[in-house]
Amino acid sequence: MARPADLELASVTKSYGGTVAVDAINLKIKAGTYCCLLGPSGCGKSSTLRMIAGHEAVSDGDIALGNEIVNKLPPAKRGTAMMFQSYALFPHLSVRDNVAFSLKMKGVGKVERSIKATEALKLVDMERYAERLPSQLSGGQQQRVALARALVTDPQILLLDEPLSALDPFLKIKVRAELKRFQRELGISFIHVTHSQEEAMALADLIVIMNNGKIEQAGTPREIFNAPATEFVARFIGGHNVMPIDGRMVSVRADRLTVTAEGGEGVAASVREVEYQGTAVYVSLATEAGLEMTAIVPERAFYQRPFETGDTVTVHWDPNDIHELSAAS
Ligand code: ADP
Repeated sequence: MARPADLELASVTKSYGGTVAVDAINLKIKAGTYCCLLGPSGCGKSSTLRMIAGHEAVSDGDIALGNEIVNKLPPAKRGTAMMFQSYALFPHLSVRDNVAFSLKMKGVGKVERSIKATEALKLVDMERYAERLPSQLSGGQQQRVALARALVTDPQILLLDEPLSALDPFLKIKVRAELKRFQRELGISFIHVTHSQEEAMALADLIVIMNNGKIEQAGTPREIFNAPATEFVARFIGGHNVMPIDGRMVSVRADRLTVTAEGGEGVAASVREVEYQGTAVYVSLATEAGLEMTAIVPERAFYQRPFETGDTVTVHWDPNDIHELSAAS
């Protein structure tokens, strides 16, 4: 296997004509990290990934893999590999030939191709399906073949662009767990583009949240959830109430609000909506001043004293749970 390597982006910019898609970003990803690039559509995630892969030229700045600046190298010489969606498998080629395909393009001989393809299939536990066609596999198995096809070049970093988007919700969770397991076993970094905060939270050691071509925040899922740096992050990651208090912009986690019918200390609000979510109940609230909030109340607590739409309640939060946000970047 290739030696895992650190990746560093230094002031990397991508412009398409007049559009700045990625705006002088700086990022370090240590070897062996599961990194998710997270953000809304058009924020620059794929452009960043494609520049790392070498499928898109860098307009300005440097990309270093280990001690080497790789911006000028062609994709196959960088030590990176891109995993494409499983539906990009060639339907008329066997699993083994699909996996060996990029080696064939590189001029690797038939015997060596076959050995390497079998090794890559072993890594993803698919060697016994080597002679099948993609159509004879389940969706999850096809995804593993797509992974083997990327791993056959022995990359130091694997790049994945929305790899789970074509899967149904059940398979998504299964393949997600597999990706995480393979990354741990291989010990190389995976850089995975997604617009799903749930997916990023579940997978990543490092979440990089992008907005308008810039990095809003990079941190572990817990750091980001417990201390969103900006209003954008707090809103995008979900589960937070963003509001102005005493002229400051702050956030309070939705599961840290307490809602009572008995009055007492807090803010009066009316119940707008009650949504049952199984383990918890989501209560949408509006204060008299027109501030909208959501409280996430554990199921048992809620049903000890349930509320209905239209009820007047008191919302309280501990001052220690108020988290200050910096202005939007
Ligand atoms: P994301 O992956 O976060 O959806 P992209 O990196 O695909 O974002 O796109 C970032 C911005 O760059 C968008 O405004 C998009 O329209 C623009 N863009 C992406 N690719 C091209 C291209 N090949 N030519 C021109 N503009 C592009």
